[in-house]
Amino acid sequence: MVRTADTVLDNLAAAQIAAIKQATWDVLPKCQEFLRSLIQIDTTNPPGSNYPECAKLIGDTLCELGYAVQYVEVPSDQLGALAPMGQGLPRVNVIGRHSGTQAGTGKTLHVNGHFDVVPIGVSENWKYPPFGGEVHNGRMYGRGTADMKGGIAAQIFAVEALRKAGLKLRGNIEQSAVVDEETTGIHNAGMGFLVDNGYIRADKIDAIVITEPLNTTNVCCGHRGTIWGTITFRGRLSHGSMPGLGVNALHHACSFVQLATTTISPKLALLGDDNVIPPAARVPSLAFTVLKAGENINSIPDVAVVSFDRRLVPGETLAGARQQIFDVLESMKQTPGFEELNYEYKEDYHTEATWVDPNLPISRIFRDAIKVVTGQEAGIVSSPGSDDQRFPVHSLTPPIESTIVYGPGCISEAHIADESIDIEKELRVGMEVMALAFASFLGVESQQAAARL
Ligand SMILES: [Zn+2]
Repeated sequence: MVRTADTVLDNLAAAQIAAIKQATWDVLPKCQEFLRSLIQIDTTNPPGSNYPECAKLIGDTLCELGYAVQYVEVPSDQLGALAPMGQGLPRVNVIGRHSGTQAGTGKTLHVNGHFDVVPIGVSENWKYPPFGGEVHNGRMYGRGTADMKGGIAAQIFAVEALRKAGLKLRGNIEQSAVVDEETTGIHNAGMGFLVDNGYIRADKIDAIVITEPLNTTNVCCGHRGTIWGTITFRGRLSHGSMPGLGVNALHHACSFVQLATTTISPKLALLGDDNVIPPAARVPSLAFTVLKAGENINSIPDVAVVSFDRRLVPGETLAGARQQIFDVLESMKQTPGFEELNYEYKEDYHTEATWVDPNLPISRIFRDAIKVVTGQEAGIVSSPGSDDQRFPVHSLTPPIESTIVYGPGCISEAHIADESIDIEKELRVGMEVMALAFASFLGVESQQAAARL
């Protein structure tokens, strides 16, 4: 068996490692300035503001750094289907490709981040301007600093650090920055669009790294599965003074919520995935989140709508989770008083749980790079929510199993007020881990930098 060179020390000399570390300090001011410019473009999603401007800033930067840049815009006639919350605003993704010295035979690594951000919430709850990119006590503040414009800045300047260190990559590196991660979608206008339209293919790409913020010392190999479902119960109107003449849809909905909660949730409590961070997300869950019924106080409601948020751990399947819901509904039908139970089931979003082998070469290299840079054993973790990893792993045929998540920034900073990232301890450290891992995975050409030191 051919041994895969999957440690940093297999691939890089000590002097090269030292040169890369120094180079991450050298490029840090530029990386920080780029991140500040990204933060200052408000890309709040929904609806997805200022995507063309943000894509252009990233594309221009990649172009300056020697990449061949391609913009991938979703055709306007597909916006309704792929970006239903997008109010018709343009969806522009950007890809930069950089050929290595062994372009034809070398490996290709694709690095990806999303540049849409979630809404800021109540602006008075922010101490610092949400689109300012101000730095205080070594942390940059603003929406997207952690989730995940910081990751995009780090992935681009990690490669720049390698160049500064005098190293040439043998393999090819591709950088993509995409839209609409935050609004999910079974298909979407961002990573989903790149996968569905052949921009990301298993025969062209050996591994993908998505730079979501899962902390600088963790390699994230998966995410939990999700179903966002809605059940519409249909009954029959009658006067509120004569409920026996109607069929009360609200009563059906509430009985269903009670029965599903008491029968399904105890089963879920027995399952768990210790890799999920934070620990509060380790157990799969079923939460009823929306109930709409009734229009006036003196009529029996003929329709009631219940929505739920189901999170799955690896080992569970979407089919199994759906069956649990259907079993409850069917058992109700057999129960006296519910003979006229009538429902429609629909899903707004679903994704299977994702988990890739932590011993894949790309994972082992990142784990080793974390050890070299931080001195700590890397955590192997799973993300509590879903992310764009699902597209190359589940939507693509054949899939790209070698898709992992590694990025600077702390997951606890994502989506909060005064979101921030530590410039040196997170942004720079993440950049150094990435630079070592990219160089180890793709190979480097020369020892010149080492010789120069
Ligand atoms: Zn994110």
